[in-house]
Amino acid sequence: MQLRAFGKRSGQEVLPLSIGGMRLPRDVDLAVSIVREAIDQGLRYIDTSRGYGESEWVIGLALQDGYRDKVILSSKWSPWITKISQSDDASADCVRRRIDETMRRLNVDFLDYYQVWNIHNRELYDQAVARGGMVEGILKAKDEGLVGHLGFTTHDSVENLLTYIEEVDWCEILLTSYNLLNTTYDPVIKAAHAKGIGTVVMNPVGGGKLAEQSPVLMDLAQRTGAVSVPDLAVRFVLSNPCIDTMLIGMTKASDITDSIASVERGAFSANQLEAIDLFLKDIRERAAVFCTSCKYCMPCPHGVDIPAVMSSIADLRFWGWADRARSNYEKIKGKADLCIQCEACLPQCTQHLMITEEMAFAADTFGK
Ligand code: SF4
Ligand code: SF4
Repeated sequence: MQLRAFGKRSGQEVLPLSIGGMRLPRDVDLAVSIVREAIDQGLRYIDTSRGYGESEWVIGLALQDGYRDKVILSSKWSPWITKISQSDDASADCVRRRIDETMRRLNVDFLDYYQVWNIHNRELYDQAVARGGMVEGILKAKDEGLVGHLGFTTHDSVENLLTYIEEVDWCEILLTSYNLLNTTYDPVIKAAHAKGIGTVVMNPVGGGKLAEQSPVLMDLAQRTGAVSVPDLAVRFVLSNPCIDTMLIGMTKASDITDSIASVERGAFSANQLEAIDLFLKDIRERAAVFCTSCKYCMPCPHGVDIPAVMSSIADLRFWGWADRARSNYEKIKGKADLCIQCEACLPQCTQHLMITEEMAFAADTFGK
């Protein structure tokens, strides 16, 4: 794997594959061994968050015994995603305390990157960049030598993001989603890259959906010469020259070796990308409403397991898996008929999905 510039602003380099800390296994020994295996295989950049359960703590364990010196470590937090205490807010003082806490949890005395976590509308952006706000607090930590570089993560609209990118001279990296099925943020990634901001993408395998071998995507993989659907997905992201690195969610050791093998097979040619575009045109249009299983909408106050219901809908609608969609739906404890259309989940959805309509569709289609 070849190093790429991590945007011009940071002056650092990064490999196209990086370690995503969100989906590590619950078994601590296994999680530690997977993170170390990834580092031993050469991966460097690690993304975690104060809000990813025990991820920071587990990664901290993995980074003992000399592993810390081998990695570029990044964490993030914001009060609108995870309140650790009721008094948490978007002030400089509060984020400064959270940075200290994150360093304790990771058992390190320096964070290479710290990001404002999930700016998903203009109001949150304004809070983050306000005088005395989060960005000021992170810059203070940078002045104190505790943080190397700043950035933010986002699920905001393309329109808003293009304006933020013009303003954020403090920002050295941007983390957003991008994959074979959802390339909505392509203009944002291009604009950030042009400004010298390092670009990181999450969900290269669509929150796990692209890791499964659906009949529709297996057909596409075969036509493209990819060895599997995940191979297709990783190489598709690799083919975007404006993306510096992608976070691979790791639940087992083979996630690392398989992803490295895909990168080594190389990016797709212009002809291959054109063939992919043509094949996916229709799915992509509908995948603007594609659930990534991020679970930000949970818990539903009425007990609906929203991501599980969305997964059955996607199996039926996109992937040619009608039988599987029905059999998985039958196993869901919180089925869509529990939805009372209260709309509490709508503002939480990172993909701006019409969850209420989808629940009504699932209840009609799959029954009780
Ligand atoms: S709209 Fe339905 S799924 Fe969403 S929070 Fe309300 S009951 Fe739950
Ligand atoms: S419905 Fe939206 S918020 Fe909920 S898991 Fe799917 S993408 Fe995430």
